[in-house]
Order: sequence, then C-alpha cells, then structure tokens
Amino acid sequence: MGLRAQVQRSLEDREGFWAEQAKLIDWQTAPQTILDYSRPPFARWYPDGTTNLCHNAVDRHLPTLADSAALIYVSTETGQERTYTFAELHQEVMTMAAILQAQDVKQGDRVLIYMPMVPEAVFMMLACVRIGAIHSVVFGGFASVSLATRIDDATPKVIVSADAGMRAGKVVPYKGLLDEAINLAQHQPKQVLMLDRGLATLELKPGRDLDLAPLRAQYAAAQVPVEWLPADAPSYILYTSGTTGKPKGVQRDTGGYAVALATSMRDIYCGAPGETYFSTSDIGWVVGHSYIVYGPLIAGMATVLYEGTPLRPDAGILWQLVERYKVSVMFSAPTAVRVLRKQDPSWLKRYDLSSLKALFLAGEPLDEPTAAWIGEGLGRPIIDNYWQTETGWPILSVAHGLEPTPTRLGSPGMPMVGYNVQLLHEQSGEPIGDNEKGVLAIVPPLPPGCMQTIWGDDARFVKTYFDSIPGRMVYSTFDWGIRDADGYYFILGRTDDVINVAGHRLGTREIEESINSHNAVAECAVVGKADSLKGQVAVGFAVLKDPVRYSEASAKLTLEGEVMALVDKQLGAVARPSRVYFISVLPKTRSGKVLRRAIQALCEGRDAGDLTTIEDAQALDQVREALGQAMGVSGEGTSARS
Ligand code: ATP
Ligand code: MG
Repeated sequence: MGLRAQVQRSLEDREGFWAEQAKLIDWQTAPQTILDYSRPPFARWYPDGTTNLCHNAVDRHLPTLADSAALIYVSTETGQERTYTFAELHQEVMTMAAILQAQDVKQGDRVLIYMPMVPEAVFMMLACVRIGAIHSVVFGGFASVSLATRIDDATPKVIVSADAGMRAGKVVPYKGLLDEAINLAQHQPKQVLMLDRGLATLELKPGRDLDLAPLRAQYAAAQVPVEWLPADAPSYILYTSGTTGKPKGVQRDTGGYAVALATSMRDIYCGAPGETYFSTSDIGWVVGHSYIVYGPLIAGMATVLYEGTPLRPDAGILWQLVERYKVSVMFSAPTAVRVLRKQDPSWLKRYDLSSLKALFLAGEPLDEPTAAWIGEGLGRPIIDNYWQTETGWPILSVAHGLEPTPTRLGSPGMPMVGYNVQLLHEQSGEPIGDNEKGVLAIVPPLPPGCMQTIWGDDARFVKTYFDSIPGRMVYSTFDWGIRDADGYYFILGRTDDVINVAGHRLGTREIEESINSHNAVAECAVVGKADSLKGQVAVGFAVLKDPVRYSEASAKLTLEGEVMALVDKQLGAVARPSRVYFISVLPKTRSGKVLRRAIQALCEGRDAGDLTTIEDAQALDQVREALGQAMGVSGEGTSARS
C-alpha cells in the first residue's frame, strides 16, 4: 500500500491501524484497548497493555543477535573506540539498573542524566526505562542555569554525571557546573553518581556523591529483570531546544513510543536487523533519544554513538566512520552539512559509501543549495524530515519503506501515518488551499509516540499547544507551511519568524534561501526589524565561505549589493533586506538552531532575552558589532556560560 493510502487508513481506521502496528513490538500483556481518547486532547495509547522499552531495545534481540554489534562507541576526542554486542549491552544495562535500585530508585522516580557522549549514558537511559524510572537527559553542554531549571522541574532522586566532556580537543569540566546547578536549584537530589573519565579533577561531596566505578564492579554480574509497565507509564522527560523561549518538558509514554519508533524504522528509515545506524546528534536532544538509542535498537540495528565534531581529525571523519562500520542509515542536521560545505568537497569522495542507503537530515530548514551540495557530493539520497521534540518521530518525510516517492528539493515531504496534518489560516482557523501559507497543525488525537503532556502541567500542555488557533482545538506546531499541488509540504519558518513588510507577509526562510543561493554565502539568518514606514524590514546576517576574500570594506559593500540584487530578482523588492551584514558565526542554540529572536531583539535595540541555551555568546557580540552597538554588554548570554 502506498504512503497516501496508508496515511488515509491510519486516520480512518485509527484503532485498526495502530493495533496492527503494535505487533511490531513485544508485549507482556497485549493491549485490548488501542486508544483511550475520553479526555481530549489527551490521548492514551494502548492503555491496558504492558510492555517495556528496554526489553524491546535489548532483551528481545538476545535470541537472535546476542553476539551482533548493538552499540558502537567512537570518540575522536579521547581516541576510544569500542563495540558492545547486544549481550554485553544487556549486562551493562542490568549493572546500571542494579546501581540505581541500590540508591532506592523506583518506578516513577526521576533520574537526571547530565553526561557527555559516553556509553555509560546510554546504559543509564536503558537502565532507567528497564526499571520504570523516568529519565531526563540534559544536554552535557548546558551550563548551570539551564541545568538548575531542569533539576527543579524534573525533581530527580538521582543525578548521573561525569567529570568532563570533550569538545574539539578541549576538556569541558562538568562537575563544577553540576555543583553550581545543585546550589542554584531548590530541589536537592539524594544521590549524585559520578563517572570518572580521568579528564578533570573530580571532588566528591561526602554523603551525596558516589563514584560509579566501584559500584559497577560490585554489580558487574547483577541480574535485574525487566519491570513490565503500563503502556502509558512515562518513559522520559525531555526539554525542547529553547529556540523560542523557555523550554517545555516533553513527557513521553512507553508503549506508544516503542510502536511509533518501530513503525518509523520500518517505513521511513528502512533499517534492518544487523545493519548499522549512525546519527550525529547528541543524546541530549530528541534525535538522540529516538534515533541514537531507542529506534535503531528496537529495530535490532547497531547504533553508532559518536563523541566528536564533523571536522576532527579532518573533514572526512563522518564518511570514514560510514565506511568502517558499513553504516546503512545516517541521520544528521543541516547545520552539520553547512559546516562541511565550508570545506573541500573532495572529502565526500574519499571513502567507500556503498553501504549507505540514505542520509536523513532534520532539525531546521534544509535549503536547496545545501541539499543539492551534499546529495551530489555523496551520490546518495538526501531525505529531509520534519518533526519536533514534542512529536518524537517524523511528521513529514518520505517513506521509502512504503513506496519510492521521489524527494523534492526544499521539501521535507508529506505527512506520515497517524498524523492528520492541516494547514490552517492563522486568523480564521480554516484549512487553506494548495500553495497558500498556513500554520501547520495536527488534528488530535496525536499519534502514538507524541508527547503525553508537559511534565507536571496538563493545563500548560493544553494552553500552549491546543489553544492558539481560534475556534479549533488543534495541535499547533508553530511553524508556517505551504503545500504544493502534488502534496509536498514546505516549511517556511516559525510563526514567530514571519515578517510583515508594507502589508506583505514574508517567511524569513524564503529570504534566507535566496541569500543562501549566492555562491559566496555559507549560511545566513534573516530577521524582521521594526520600521516606521513599512512596519518591518528584513535584515540579513550572512556567514561567508571564504571571508578572507571579502575582508576589504569595499569588497563587502559590493557583495552586499549583489546579495540584495539577488533577493530582489528572486522574491521581489519587498523582500530585499535593508542591510546584509557579514559575520563569522551565527548565534545558535546548542542544538544548532538559529536564534532569530535574539538577533531581532538586538536589531531593534532590545535585550536579547533568555539565552541559556546559546552555543556561543560571542556570536551575539558579532551581531552587536555589525550593528555598530556597544560591545561587552553580552547580558545573559555570557553570564549563563561557564
Ligand atoms: P522550543 O520549542 O523550545 O522553541 P525548538 O522548537 O527549537 O525549541 P525542537 O523541538 O528541537 O525545539 O525543534 C523543532 C523545530 O525545529 C520545528 O518546530 C521546526 O521549527 C524546526 N524543524 C525541525 N525539523 C525541520 C525540518 N526538516 N525543516 C524545517 N524546520 C524543521
Ligand atoms: Mg518548538
């Protein structure tokens, strides 16, 4: 059955469809009820079934794959490389589970994991779901303020951390940040378990902090059975990236998530048992949860856990790993591809990529030049897929497991099974026609795998997501989209990012695409700036592939003129930015998303807002400098960093 027919079926016979998908995983008690939707918009999937995520990711494969690779750890930072088979992974997870139980961690207790990309982090995640504890992984790059707010929100009984992470050859000590965060937080964990990697000095606070190493030795052979959980028991809390403000604690279930991931692995990513999956994401993000840890393992695949950057030891490292581990499915982000695009394209050709079936990209808009560059360079299909922390798996994609739908440059494809996607008029809430811009919304119930609620705040869940479109209780993605006559969707940016120039509504994404199509530009951000005459005008900030070539002021001026003329020609004079500034790095979140709101605030002379999730606070100084503002008043951006 083709994709569209399958999607239609999944919406018309929702329960029949998801009852069938439920067979993709193991249940202790098979569900009799498929969906309880008695309290809209809260959907309870498989409410009377019992299962376990860890069982489906690990134990289930022991009869067939015990000696096959499960977790392939590669750190180009420390030079470590080790493969764990499913049997080894199983024991490591049981050991961690026993350690958690020894700290009195029980079903429903939270465990906060603040760790770099080390195998122990994955063992801990799986150990939590094995015993029904709820994990909350906090990205290891976050500083103490971000961490403290998450400690207070998730109120963990235990925190698991490490002495340090490493990034681009530099040690990033964690323990000081963690201690500071616990000091800042109201909530106090009972125990802190510390992994000592030997990278930084580690002081343990007596009575609170425990060294993991002796505990691992003590429980090295522990046998900890799986806890069978109701399918709607929470498996984890994960905070959104914070691109648009205060992060939201997304709460995910157990059974629905396992089924949704299994479905996506079969239909979208097309991974088979025994093959290797490589996602360059971080376990601190949703891609890391769904497609480093749970999805590939549920599908019986080996998964690569990579601590390192795309450029070290050289710009060929990702492809070298594809060759070495015969990676068949790869997942990365446009931001990583843009980093590579500043390098010699011959790096894409040096390794044998014959095992690779496709490269999936998600997380932010994939502009056409970037997609075309990587697609041609690798000679492999590039599949853009669109989703959110909230949904846990793709809303829009192509599903080559169902049919070979061609991809279309600039489009993340079409709705996936279970998602009743509609484009709605922002004011009237009415569905709009082809080639018209609308808010991308999902008519509830949301399919399995999507968020259950905001952790501890049902009212905020309803108010945030289901109350923004007048007169209709639909889930808003807060992204603008457009659908062409063939059913392909295009994401035009966030609803926050639409600007209004003299009555014309323009997605900043469209203007960015146009600027990106200039040969000299590596990446850019466009924001709207208040203008007394036109309402708003577009302002661009671009990063150049070869900044040295344009170091002279006169060369910059010529280039700015060229870029403006290009936008003028492609989109019309209304879209032409009033200025295009050249900077060497864009302000981004730690997950690689451009902080347009902060840039916009600076353009309008306002405070840059909550920036606890910013990657590099100096990027904002560059924006300030470009705008001719005073430097050294970096505000929260700087103070939030270590
Ligand atoms: P917050 O919700 O806290 O502001 P965030 O939205 O950046 O943070 P995520 O859930 O990590 O947090 O990101 C989801 C968003 O990323 C989507 O809503 C969309 O704006 C963008 N996005 C993800 N994938 C794509 C894609 N393939 N094309 C275009 N945009 C994408
Ligand atoms: Mg969001």
